[in-house]
Amino acid sequence: MPTLMGCIADDFTGATDLAGLLARSGIKVSLRIGVPETAPVDTAAFEVIALKSRTAPVAEAVADTRAALDWLKTAGATRFFWKYCSTFDSTAEGNIGPVAEALMQELGTDQTIYCPAFPENGRSIFMGNLFVGQQPLAESPMKDHPLTPMRDSNLMRLLAPQVTRPVGLADRLTVAKGAEALRDKLAALKADGVAHVVVDAVADEDLGIIADACRDMVLMTGGSAVAMPLPQLYIADGLLAADADGVTAPHLAADTVLLSGSCSVMTRAQVAAYQSTGAPSFRLDPLALAKDGPGAALDWLAAQNLKTKPLIYATADPAEVKAAQEQLGVAKAGALVEDVLAACATAARDKGARRFVVAGGETSGAVTKALGVTQLTIGAEIAPGVPWTFCQSGGHDIALTLKSGNFGAETFFADALINLETT
Ligand code: ADP
Repeated sequence: MPTLMGCIADDFTGATDLAGLLARSGIKVSLRIGVPETAPVDTAAFEVIALKSRTAPVAEAVADTRAALDWLKTAGATRFFWKYCSTFDSTAEGNIGPVAEALMQELGTDQTIYCPAFPENGRSIFMGNLFVGQQPLAESPMKDHPLTPMRDSNLMRLLAPQVTRPVGLADRLTVAKGAEALRDKLAALKADGVAHVVVDAVADEDLGIIADACRDMVLMTGGSAVAMPLPQLYIADGLLAADADGVTAPHLAADTVLLSGSCSVMTRAQVAAYQSTGAPSFRLDPLALAKDGPGAALDWLAAQNLKTKPLIYATADPAEVKAAQEQLGVAKAGALVEDVLAACATAARDKGARRFVVAGGETSGAVTKALGVTQLTIGAEIAPGVPWTFCQSGGHDIALTLKSGNFGAETFFADALINLETT
């Protein structure tokens, strides 16, 4: 079956999140890191392309998105989804609005919706204002984000300077009346020339109504959650077969390595919980890495039996991270850790590891790059937003899970390994 929906995400973990939610339907979802260099062959019903465009210059973000769109069209996609962060991370220039307008122009459509709501994760929209938990966006920690500080909570006001055509709102009162009322509202706004419609959603039921009303739109935009009902709707519409292309995990050797470069509160608890199971672990110290290089870590790894599922981690508490950053600089400390974890990933693969658990968004980027992974098929979900993925590295089938920051429960590492055994 050719691709039905093509999705473009503005960063890698956002793409994984979207792919995981779509895959809950059991329909095959494939994730590509960057625009593939080769023409599409054997594509999945849902294709997600992860770009790195959230904070790129506008022209670059638009050009990359156009290239992704061309590839997805060639794959056969007839519906498209532009995925950005559920906190609408953007600057006064973009990139959410300019990318959406470029996609609308390429697809010849006059209207799209904007719905970053993700109620399960505390992101809701009411009267066009975005809330993070109980706080308006501009009062949440996002107000101090280093790259995209969000100083206004009103999505219409945020979007208007980013686009050339009129912005409007379909509010919760309309959404609560159901899909038909929402479709009528969108049509009325279109008749008034409104191209960009922010749509309120405070609960999962709202997202179901929005997806239902917008299922025939050539382009939808939003966070991952509003896309989640689409596979079932497309099955109901006869566009997909219910049992289309389900994913079966390949048979893989049990040799495993766990790599953690995240220092988030949850990852620290996860590392401690995994160590308490008695699994072997090796701690990376950026100061020692700067002085002595990665040899000690690689030697330790070489001496391990990978069936014992060893963990290599740089995960540390804020005081240790600060001490390393003060001596080495933030970027150098981060790069030293990422480089050694990437080197450990390839060394483990060459030693026979076929199952990889990776913690940390940037760390995941470094590890997938080192493993030469460009395409991942989404498997079972371990925790909300964190699926197993199956891919190829160095000519071998491998299973890889990539967990960013605070995702997963305290037992995530053990949960992941058990989940792979049982699916
Ligand atoms: P998260 O998803 O939790 O944000 P990331 O991998 O994206 O995790 O970011 C963590 C960053 O911190 C990486 O660049 C990593 O290399 C760096 N890092 C990890 N451990 C340390 C440490 N002990 N000292 C300094 N920097 C570290």
